[in-house]
Order: sequence, then C-alpha cells, then structure tokens
Amino acid sequence: MSDAARPIAAGIDLGGTKIEAMLFGADMVQITSRRRPTPRDSYDDLLSALEEEVRWLRAEAGRDDLPVGMGFPGLVDSQTEIVFAGNLASSGRPLSPDLRARVGGIVVCANDSRCFTLSEAHGGAGKDHARVFGLIFGTGLGGGFCQDGRLIAGLNGMAGEIGHYGISAHHARKYGLPILRCGCGRMGCIETLISGNGMARIAEALIGTPRPATEIAANLSDPDNARIFSAWCDLAAEVAHTIQLHVDPDCIVLGGGLSNIDGVEKRLSEALARIALPGVRLPAILKPAFGDSSGGRGAALLALASDTGTEP
Ligand SMILES: [Zn+2]
Repeated sequence: MSDAARPIAAGIDLGGTKIEAMLFGADMVQITSRRRPTPRDSYDDLLSALEEEVRWLRAEAGRDDLPVGMGFPGLVDSQTEIVFAGNLASSGRPLSPDLRARVGGIVVCANDSRCFTLSEAHGGAGKDHARVFGLIFGTGLGGGFCQDGRLIAGLNGMAGEIGHYGISAHHARKYGLPILRCGCGRMGCIETLISGNGMARIAEALIGTPRPATEIAANLSDPDNARIFSAWCDLAAEVAHTIQLHVDPDCIVLGGGLSNIDGVEKRLSEALARIALPGVRLPAILKPAFGDSSGGRGAALLALASDTGTEP
C-alpha cells in the first residue's frame, strides 16, 4: 500500500437524513466512502447504525484503533459530551461516550460547521490564510472560526454559531421581510431567511409565493429571481459584515448548497464592499475546496488531532 493510501483517520457526516462515512489516507486524501439513511425514530437504532459505520471504516482501514470523528448539525457540550440537535434522535444524549462504549478507541463528535471550517483551513480554500471563517448555507446557517489552523470553540463550543444573529432591521423594512420564529426558539434569527430553506421565504415576501432556492439559483436571469437573489445577497453581506466586526477574518469560505450558485462569492464580495466600514480591507470570500466532503474531512482531522495529542 502506498503512503497516500494508508488510512490515518475517518470522518462521519451525521445529518438529519443521511450518514456518510469517509476514510482518509495520508495528506487527508479520501480513500473510500459510503452512505446510508439516518435512523430517525430511536436513539438505539442511530447508535447501532453509527457502530456499523465505525466497524466498516476500521475494517476497510485494517486498523481496530482507527480514530473516528463525527460532524453533526447541533451543539456538543465540551464537558459532558451531551449533544443538542433538533433533527437527530441523539439530542440530549452523550453520543460520543455511548458510541465509544460500543466500539472503543477514539471517537469524537463536533458541530458540522466547525468541522467544515477546520477542513477548509487545513489544505482547503483557506489554507493560505491565518484567520478563516466558514459560513455554511445549508438547511440552517452555520459557521465556525479557525485561527492559525486551530478551531476556536468558546465557552459553550458555539463560537461561529452565526445563524442566530438577528435580521438587520433596515433590510427587514426595505424588503418587507417577516420576523419568524427560528428552530432555536428565538424570533427573527437570520437563518430563517438566508439558509437554503430561508431563501424561499424571501421569495414569498417579494413575489407573494415561496420559491425553492434551487429554482431561483437555476435561473438568475429571471427578473423575480434576480430580485430575490439580490435581497438574499444584501442580508448575507450583513452577516459577513457582522463577522468582520467580530473576528476580522482574512477570508470567509462559503459552504452548503447555496455556495454552489454561480458567482455567489463575487456578488457577496460586492455587497459587503457597499456596507463595510470605510477604508477597511475586506476578507476574501471564497468557494470551498472540498464542498460536501468538508464536514466529514474536518471531523476526521479532529479525530486525528485527538489521536496524536495535538490540538487543531
Ligand atoms: Zn435561532
């Protein structure tokens, strides 16, 4: 086996609908992967599915002690390892310890947006930058921040949890946008409008009927779609501006389904330039290098760091 193909870590992307298990070799080259649906009704079924994936990864690697990281859409308490994830049967449970009890070895768990950011900071779109912010437009709106290759976790592990900032008041008034209840329980979180699902709600406010983001992105020359996308860019740029005020990153790496929109990084850069404080240098806004694989890749990097005793 060549060095590049020698497995060093594995990542599991645990989502609300699918589980993807990925095996990585030296230099974090992906060797193999597979997918299965996420068991939704029972914690025990979810644990059994994850146990099977860990055993499969370790069998593929030929290593019983292969470190495994898991990224999931939610928060994990850094002290108790209890996870909070509205869309998963594991919410309120100590997922990593329970899985470790079944499979042994190193099993770590982290928010998927933070994993994405770590991945893009290590050999990805942010590799040449000291301060990398990941901004992920998926089902929700996630984020994470890496400084000098290290993930900044914060007191609660929620540094970068950008989706729960409030909507900017002047944009809500300008576009007649609704103030909606977020999945977190608060009113008016920005993810209700600029996540993948949120764009449809901007459409509803502007043209009177919801329109899926995929439909809008597929035809931006349509005048209605252009108007919706322009409003979305204004709101997303406001988030980038807030990020700049807080941590002043060198770059913002976009992720999630909406990061695939043609030219989105350019449109966001232009929108940010219009509202940034005068005279400041702007962060580069970049598309991701690893796309949908970045969550699992970052989780594997966390597991690898745990294995080698370093701290990413
Ligand atoms: Zn919220």
